[in-house]
Amino acid sequence: MRILVTGGAGYIGSHTVVALLERGHDVVVADDFSNARPAVLDRVAELAGRRAALEVVDLTDAGRTDAVVAAAAPDAVVHFAGRKAVGESAERPLDYYRTNLDSTFSLLAAMERHGVRRLVYSSSATVYGDHAPVPYVETYEPLAAASPYGRTKVMTEQVLADVAAATPGLRVALLRYFNPVGAHPSGRMGEDPQGVPNNLMPYVAQVAVGRRERLAIFGDDYDTPDGTCLRDYVHVLDLAEGHVAALEHLDTMATPVRAFNLGAGRGTSVRELFDAFCAVVGRPLPHEVVARRPGDLPAYWADTTRAAEELGWRARRTIDDMVADTWRWQQANPEGYPA
Ligand code: UDP
Repeated sequence: MRILVTGGAGYIGSHTVVALLERGHDVVVADDFSNARPAVLDRVAELAGRRAALEVVDLTDAGRTDAVVAAAAPDAVVHFAGRKAVGESAERPLDYYRTNLDSTFSLLAAMERHGVRRLVYSSSATVYGDHAPVPYVETYEPLAAASPYGRTKVMTEQVLADVAAATPGLRVALLRYFNPVGAHPSGRMGEDPQGVPNNLMPYVAQVAVGRRERLAIFGDDYDTPDGTCLRDYVHVLDLAEGHVAALEHLDTMATPVRAFNLGAGRGTSVRELFDAFCAVVGRPLPHEVVARRPGDLPAYWADTTRAAEELGWRARRTIDDMVADTWRWQQANPEGYPA
């Protein structure tokens, strides 16, 4: 297939592009590099043995988006592009609603105009909100989210359901990611957050490489086995393979729009992840326990039955793989990708 990947220069996008190229698909990346570096596409080419085509485009520009979809003439679209920082979304909600929704509207309009009927969308476990029973199952409703970022994911899922109901033949997979971590095992691609990392794994990696002084553990008085929060960490290469599987199953999905949890199906605590990182680095890393971070849930993970049964996908890589691959990437690229 020929696949348009929006946000294909980002963290999950770039790993997915490698997986798609390796699987024999042709790829066009659409990215505006607002949160990614062009150099990543050289690394993609190096690993996959051939290049993805590139369109530099801001998808909120409906006219440009239409031209890109027309020129790419894709069989399917994988839509990663969007803003994704939870904290920033509370400070700049309008930016988040505008960017994440407008870009999707442009894309859907262009897909309709040019007869593109397959879409894989980057959603998030955050759509389960604060009240869903754990483990999370795809059938849970009503969806809710605690941040403007999360609400853009809920809203986009709803928009996609409505558009699919009105568009015969449109097939949409909603992939709800849990906590993506890790890096390509070559050490050539990984997560390269701009500014201070919000997420646990890149923060620990930057402490290990000396870019940050110490990890702040946000609370150790939760009602969990070691008092720190449990999350479902999933290796970015497993996630990438999940996108390939979803694309290849779109035409045979049980319903035209279908959500799939992409997680490992188990909870790992902040302390367990941190200890695993210290073990791979070979020394204790500086850290301190501080107050809880507002909005954090104590524990959640995925029920992964549906992805296993319907996509034949399962996360295979372990926590040790996740930390070892992250550390290899961070050591080889202490400042991330070259500017
Ligand atoms: N966390 C932490 N220190 C940090 C970043 C995160 O203790 O500097 C904790 C956070 O409280 C949560 C877990 O690590 O329990 C995962 O946080 P992350 O932001 O990576 O993912 P999220 O909680 O948003 O799924």
